[in-house]
Amino acid sequence: MLPEIVEVAKLHQLELNHRTIHNEEVLAKCPFCQEDSKPGKRRRFYLSLNSQGQVFRCWYCGESGGVLRFISLLEGVNEEEVKERYRSQDKRRSRKRHPVEQWSTGQRRVYRVIYGGKEPDWQVMRKRDYSYYLRTLDWMQTQWNEIVQHELERAYFWLLLGIHSGRYAHYIARIQSREKLLEIPLLSPVLELFSRSSRPGWTVEVEEFIQRYMSHP
Ligand SMILES: [Zn+2]
Repeated sequence: MLPEIVEVAKLHQLELNHRTIHNEEVLAKCPFCQEDSKPGKRRRFYLSLNSQGQVFRCWYCGESGGVLRFISLLEGVNEEEVKERYRSQDKRRSRKRHPVEQWSTGQRRVYRVIYGGKEPDWQVMRKRDYSYYLRTLDWMQTQWNEIVQHELERAYFWLLLGIHSGRYAHYIARIQSREKLLEIPLLSPVLELFSRSSRPGWTVEVEEFIQRYMSHP
């Protein structure tokens, strides 16, 4: 995202023509030639700032360009440096959020119920020790994945139990209520697993358990 050219002008304390402040084209005293700052030119504003295109032009000296060039001229730094500054700012802004940071309130609640403890102050932890913060998030994600796996196994168990016991609707409703509580998909993943010709090892264990259970209830 590009900075606002009028805001940049204000930040550098350029003298603006206040009658144009709400226009698309805002006029200011040109800091590059200062022609309009000469006595007798008090009412002149040669520098035009376009708040839509974020470009500038001085009608006297002809200095012109985009907002990044504007900043580079005002600060006396290389335009590449200015570009880099905003590029890295954008990168920071679009930093991929950790999956744990995207947990819903319900998921956080479930996690706290299972693992106990209080939700830490993430902002503080992040500032104090960034790598510790990341490790904590990774660890929580690992624990969460274990919860999800456990829930999947149980949902699969209920699905089979529903099929074999003839109380299908009852067990499907159970799966759906867990699904709602944990805010994770359970029913469609287990149905999908059930329809597969080759299934992961843990499903075989659940199937064997059900077989034994159904033959000696
Ligand atoms: Zn000028």
